Amino acid sequence: MADRDDIPESLVRRTPWPESVSRPVVTPLQPSVVYASLDPDQLDAQYAGQVKGFTYAREGHPNAEVLARKIDALEGAEGGIVVGSGMAAVAAVLLGLLRAGDHVVGGDQLYGRSLRMMAEDLPRLGIATSLADATDAAAVEAALRPETKLVLIEVVSNPTLRVADLDGIAALCRARGILLAVDSTFSTPRGIRPFDHGADIVIHSVTKLLAGHSDVTLGYVACRTAELRRAVELFAVTTGLTPSPFDCWLAERGLLSFHLRYDRAEETAARLADHLAGLPGVRRVIYPLRADHPDQARAVALLGRRGGNMLSFELEGGRAAANALTRAMPAVAFAPTLGDVGTTLSHPASSSHRAVAPEVRARLGISEGFFRISVGVEEADLLIRDFTAGVAAARDA
Ligand SMILES: *Cc1c(COP(=O)(O)O)cnc(C)c1O
Repeated sequence: MADRDDIPESLVRRTPWPESVSRPVVTPLQPSVVYASLDPDQLDAQYAGQVKGFTYAREGHPNAEVLARKIDALEGAEGGIVVGSGMAAVAAVLLGLLRAGDHVVGGDQLYGRSLRMMAEDLPRLGIATSLADATDAAAVEAALRPETKLVLIEVVSNPTLRVADLDGIAALCRARGILLAVDSTFSTPRGIRPFDHGADIVIHSVTKLLAGHSDVTLGYVACRTAELRRAVELFAVTTGLTPSPFDCWLAERGLLSFHLRYDRAEETAARLADHLAGLPGVRRVIYPLRADHPDQARAVALLGRRGGNMLSFELEGGRAAANALTRAMPAVAFAPTLGDVGTTLSHPASSSHRAVAPEVRARLGISEGFFRISVGVEEADLLIRDFTAGVAAARDA
C-alpha cells in the first residue's frame, strides 16, 4: 500500500485530457503558454510552416486564431491578427510599418490616443506626422509629402460623427503608392468593409462593438498583402502585444451575437436621434443618416442604410445642464466607452476631449452641453423615456 506521504505521479504530472468520442460544442478556452512537440524534427517543421502547430502563446494561440478568422470573415480579409487592445493594433501598424524619416498623415479627429501617438510618440522616433480633415480629400492631399508612407483615418469620427471621404482618400493613396490604414471601430464591418474601398490595412478596437460586453480589451489588424501582414505580425509578436486567451474566448462569445446587437442598436439609434431632435432644450442632434448631417450624402453612399449605433447631441446650457442630465438618468451608464450591450453616455468635454485646446473644441462644436450616446440593445421606448427625462431635468437646471 502506498504511504500517504507518497506523492502520486498523477498529482505532479499533468493528467491526460479525458477521452471522449464526442466533442465540445463551445470553443475550448486554451490558456496554455507552451505547446509540446514530438521531437526536434517536428518542431523544425512547425517553425518552417510545413505543419501547423502552436509553440508559445506570445507567437499565437488557438483562441486568438479562432477570433481572428471570425473577424477576417466579417471584413473579407485574410490572415488578420488579434492583439491586446485597439491601441496595440494602431501601434503595430504605425511602428511595424514606418521608419525614421517617413511621414504619416492622420485624420484630425482620430481617436484621442491615436492623436497622441501622432503628436508625441512617432515624432520622438523620427517619424514626421501631419493631421488633416479626413472629410476633405483635398485637405489630405495638401498634407502629403514626397516621404509620406501612410495615411490613417477613421470612417466615422469621434464624437462629431463626421464621415471621411474614404473613396477620395483611397484614390489619392493608390495614385501615389501610399498605404491607407482605416480604423473602422465605429463603423464596424456591418457598416462598411474598408478593403472594398481600397484600404490596405483595417484596424479594430475589438473592445467596443465586436466583443460588445465591456469585459475585454482587444484589437485586430488585417492587411491586404502578405508582406504587410508579416511586418505587422512580427512587430506585435516581438513587442508582446499578445492578447489573453480568455479575452479572445470572451470576445468570440460576444461576436456570436454581434450582428443582432448591432442591427437592434442601430434601429434604436435612428429613432432616438429623431426623438431627441424634437425635444425642447436640445440644440442639435448628430446622426450620419439624418438630413441635417453635414456628410449625409456621403454617409448614404458609403454606409448605405447603416447609420450605426452612435449619435451625439448638444444640450442648451452648460455644465450644470450636463450634470443634471446624467444624474436624472442613472440607468444609462455615464461612462467613457462605446459598443456595450447597454447604452452608455459620454461627455467629451470632461473626458476624451478634456485636454483639447478650447478653440479646437469650440471649432468642433464640443461644448459643455455636448454628449455622445452609444446605443445598446434596450427597448427603444425605454431609452426614449430615459432621455426625455434627462433632457427635461437639464432644462430645469
Ligand atoms: C477605443 C478605440 C481605440 C482604442 O481601442 P482600445 O481597445 O481601447 O485600446 C482605437 N480607435 C477607436 C476609434 C476607438 O474607439
